[in-house]
Amino acid sequence: MYPVPTSMSPSRVEAFTSCPMAFRFASIEKLPEPPSAHMTKGSLVHRVLELLYMQPAATRTLVTATPAFDQAVAEYRLDPEFTLLALNEAQEQAFFADCWSLTQAYFEMEDPTTVREIGLELRLEAQVGDLTLRGIIDRLELDANGGLVVTDYKTGRAPGLKYEQSRLSGVHFYSFLCEAVFGQRPAAIRLMYLRTGETITATPSAQSVKFITTRTTAVWKAVEKACQTGDFRPKPGALCTSCAYQPWCPAFGGDPALAAVEAPARFRPLAAA
Ligand code: SF4
Repeated sequence: MYPVPTSMSPSRVEAFTSCPMAFRFASIEKLPEPPSAHMTKGSLVHRVLELLYMQPAATRTLVTATPAFDQAVAEYRLDPEFTLLALNEAQEQAFFADCWSLTQAYFEMEDPTTVREIGLELRLEAQVGDLTLRGIIDRLELDANGGLVVTDYKTGRAPGLKYEQSRLSGVHFYSFLCEAVFGQRPAAIRLMYLRTGETITATPSAQSVKFITTRTTAVWKAVEKACQTGDFRPKPGALCTSCAYQPWCPAFGGDPALAAVEAPARFRPLAAA
């Protein structure tokens, strides 16, 4: 009924498990969504840190972060991800002030002059049977013993204990990719929550890597079945409040069959503006 995707990323795995119906709209039907200030802030701060890490290690200070920040702001001022937010002047100021405070918060969490990075925004992929697993690693570095460390920046709040393991499964996914591509399992995987100053660190093991391939394959099988039957169930929860597809969600009295026509009509004019 729907084409089965041939690749999975951590965000796709989480999206399907969070709500199959929203996954259908976004990843199977590929319907447009309006940009969100939260996502754009995250992209901008990631870009600042990428630019910072393109400088020699000894020069990575809060002072040199300023031109990196200015460059990222200049880039985003032209980017539809930002322009479509249609912020007024006061909202723009608040938006950039928040991005800068997240950048400052980063410097309170670690000293970038001591980090031995070997890759930024690394795109990795590996095969598991017929399925391609792919992901982008924010930063790959070497620890004092030469071990690989995967770092993922987060601009949202740290999850409560209940959700910590599911968040870490995304990073274990990167660990699997590192092992498949570089032949070496990372010594550590870290999630840096810039807004709260918390870092969650995990040590990958043979079991955690195997768990990722098992879980991802199981999720993919569920996606395959849903594509064949057309049965993508809505899973109402916390995500509903920010879900752009709510007007077509059966859990809210909507008709999903209308989304293919109405969502582009509603959101694409924004994208073309
Ligand atoms: S509104 Fe909620 S249940 Fe419906 S598609 Fe969106 S996230 Fe899923």
